[in-house]
Amino acid sequence: MSFFENTLKNIAEAAKIMKLDAKVEVVLQHPKRVLEVSIPVERDNGQVEVVQGFRVQHNDAAGPYKGGVRFHEDVNMDEVKALATLMTLKCAVVNLPLGGAKGGIAIDPVAYSPKELEQITRRYVRLIEPFIGPETDVPAPDVNTDAQVMAWIADEYSKLKEKNMWGVVTGKPVSFGGSVGRDDATSQGGMFILDELMRSFGKEAKNTRVVIQGFGNAGANMANILYLNGYNIIAVSDSKGGLYCEHGLDPLATMKCKVKSGSVADCGGEEFQPKAGDSCKRVSNEELLRLDCDVLVLAALENQITEKNANEVQAKIIFELANGPTTIEADEILAKRNIIVIPDILANAGGVTVSYFEMVQNKQNYYWDSQEVADKLKKVMVAAWENVAKNREKYACTYRQAAFITALYRLSDILTLRGLS
Ligand code: GLU
Repeated sequence: MSFFENTLKNIAEAAKIMKLDAKVEVVLQHPKRVLEVSIPVERDNGQVEVVQGFRVQHNDAAGPYKGGVRFHEDVNMDEVKALATLMTLKCAVVNLPLGGAKGGIAIDPVAYSPKELEQITRRYVRLIEPFIGPETDVPAPDVNTDAQVMAWIADEYSKLKEKNMWGVVTGKPVSFGGSVGRDDATSQGGMFILDELMRSFGKEAKNTRVVIQGFGNAGANMANILYLNGYNIIAVSDSKGGLYCEHGLDPLATMKCKVKSGSVADCGGEEFQPKAGDSCKRVSNEELLRLDCDVLVLAALENQITEKNANEVQAKIIFELANGPTTIEADEILAKRNIIVIPDILANAGGVTVSYFEMVQNKQNYYWDSQEVADKLKKVMVAAWENVAKNREKYACTYRQAAFITALYRLSDILTLRGLS
């Protein structure tokens, strides 16, 4: 089953449980607009190649389309459709006045120089320019894109419109219309949700052993934020391998080492880890997913826990900081094994929530301090948690089904009021 089919099946399951109006369901099964663009790039060696770019606008009944743009060699239309659909649902779970979209460019960013990446980004903006804007569709960072890429998008769009229109994109540098707290918002929001869940079990952070798959923006920030809040991070990984420290590791030291060595897998030496003599060892990416722990945070890519490895997961809780890391077949196996899955559309909604705050600040041209951002983020995340937890009890279902139900109630209300627009 493809990622998009998987997403539609999750909608269908939730729709059945809550008896969603079939008219609303069928509308949400189809993205409103899909764009595929061919982007010429002149390589530094003078050769020209053409790369594919995508933007899928799933639904804007609740507000302007909203969602990131990723750079990854595996980007394809099915994936971007799935991710755009998840964005509509995600914005609805946290009750933002935003719709859902996603974009991507099918490149391995490491293979391109910064100059080439800037050229690709600016050409992509020129190709999708008629369809984006602060009131229509607002891109943001995602896998392998950062504040610099967002600055190029804001600048190119502003040049095309011949005026400053920073609000076309979020996740910008703070010095150029960005919001403080946007860079680690996904992880910060994730921690608020995890705290609520652990509180519901009466379990303290210091007794919670966490394994994190993925050490990019979301994974590395999550490791650090959880560590600073007392959680015990026992393993992390990146695409090259994992590092397991039985008594816990220091994410900042690991990050410093990764910058030098290229992978967290090489960071087990005593000079990097807090407890001298501790038994840190390398683990493969597959082994990492099977480690005995309380919480397994998935912060890499989609399709990581599947029917092939779901039976071997030893975590008590799976926390989806990435989008779509657990397949529907895996979900069934995990539910039978009483493993709790906190779904992406709730777990990682902190990112888009602070993106929304950035849009609000851009409109006001008045900027908040980090305390204000953090307080407002916590309020949104805790309210979403409470709604999802209530629906989970009411329908005696999984957290994923409850999060989808929470989102679908809101979307159903808006779509019905607007006449399925
Ligand atoms: N790419 C992030 C996500 O998947 C953030 C999207 C946004 O801020 O618009 O939620």
